[in-house]
Amino acid sequence: MNSAMPGRLATASEAITTWLQPLRPVLDPCDRIDWRRLAGVADALDRVLTHSPVGAALLAGAERSSRLRAIRRDLARHVDTTRDPDLFQLLTQFMCGYCDIDLRDTFGLGHGRLIGRHGSAQAQQRWIPRLLAGELAGIAVTEPHGGSRPAETHTCAVAGSDGTWRVTGRKTWIGRLTEAAVFVLFFRAPDGGLAAAAVDATEPGLRRQPIPPTGLAGWAWGVLDLDEVKIRQEDVLHGDGMLLLREHFAGYRPLVTATALGGAAAVFDAVTARLSARKAAGDLHRVRDSALITLGRTHVQLATGLLGAVTASHLAEGGHPAAELWGAATKAHGIDTANSATAELALLLGASGFRADCQTAKIRRDLSGLLYADGIHDSLYRTAGKQHATTKDTARDITAVPTPRGRSASVAMTA
Ligand SMILES: Cc1cc2nc3c(=O)[nH]c(=O)nc-3n(C[C@H](O)[C@H](O)[C@H](O)COP(=O)(O)OP(=O)(O)OC[C@H]3O[C@@H](n4cnc5c(N)ncnc54)[C@H](O)[C@@H]3O)c2cc1C
Repeated sequence: MNSAMPGRLATASEAITTWLQPLRPVLDPCDRIDWRRLAGVADALDRVLTHSPVGAALLAGAERSSRLRAIRRDLARHVDTTRDPDLFQLLTQFMCGYCDIDLRDTFGLGHGRLIGRHGSAQAQQRWIPRLLAGELAGIAVTEPHGGSRPAETHTCAVAGSDGTWRVTGRKTWIGRLTEAAVFVLFFRAPDGGLAAAAVDATEPGLRRQPIPPTGLAGWAWGVLDLDEVKIRQEDVLHGDGMLLLREHFAGYRPLVTATALGGAAAVFDAVTARLSARKAAGDLHRVRDSALITLGRTHVQLATGLLGAVTASHLAEGGHPAAELWGAATKAHGIDTANSATAELALLLGASGFRADCQTAKIRRDLSGLLYADGIHDSLYRTAGKQHATTKDTARDITAVPTPRGRSASVAMTA
């Protein structure tokens, strides 16, 4: 069992034993995934974390960032989850979050999925092997006028005489700011439409201003300025930028939600372990009813939050028209649930849970960042609400997201 106290860290194998295995009949009723392989991934993660721990005592900064990158690279040599069903990847994210929310980029392509699904053959050949070998992809959407309105993107490209585009603008609140090898950049194409491109992080014209965050501080975060950054035609992703963004986040948000719920589940287990230890030591004669009610309520909240994320992930994997709605709503709900459950549970730890080096305190800081990252929660609820307020005839058009390249004809690029 994990502990709220510093020095004792949660393991991925515990996440399977205490949370995923008991929920298996509802998480995976048709036995779609290989649970022995999932246990193997957990073992591999636990082995790496034994010699490279990333607990709250390892403060944010260069050393933490380089350790997280080394963990990703190390595991990339043994484990590739990108060919597994989305459910497998989602449960892997839950295990990562259970160990530490900063491990959310340990497996998979992350935002590099956009390149894998919509990139040109050249972009895929250039980036996918590097990402599979452990390098990181960032995403640059948000601008100073507000990330909840990507349709109003100001960063724009002008066509050069040599067939390339030059992009200028400012992106802000960008995660993986100094660690990403490639950014999936959203900008206005010369024809005025929203477009996306894979931009090499070493490209001249990129400038970074890191800003220290309150939570989710494993990666550098801050402002990414672009000054006439060169975009070749093969860097541009196929398809309308807004549709790419919507399709990507329909699948990505359930993964984020699972990571957050994993972190909250670790807090739950820390609290139950602490209560048991205090009772065994005779410090508590019995566990109060109010504490039992909190445990009962938060457990079912976290479990149903996870089921919601699994459902959203199934819809996204199948290209269902309602995938965007459920990805948005279950992210907002799952992150809200993780935040409220951990706030309630943390009280049961007493002041020991308030130590800066306590994993519970770190999880709470990270969870607060997830209220904003990958979609601010009130805008996500609003997206869902808007669709509920739309008539059935038009709802289908609003929710439809594009199928990835390979399943649809490629879209011609125009300069
Ligand atoms: C830890 C972290 C990591 C992040 N990583 C990335 C990243 O890697 N890449 C990236 O592109 N972005 C990233 N972001 C940015 C994130 O996506 C944005 O924070 C989010 O999209 C919301 O945008 P905003 O913060 O600019 O808030 P805004 O869009 O300004 O919204 C703030 C508030 O204003 C409200 N609002 C908006 N319009 C109106 C209106 N007309 N009237 C009244 N209220 C309104 C919103 O509902 C919201 O409550 C990250 C953020 C965080 C915190």
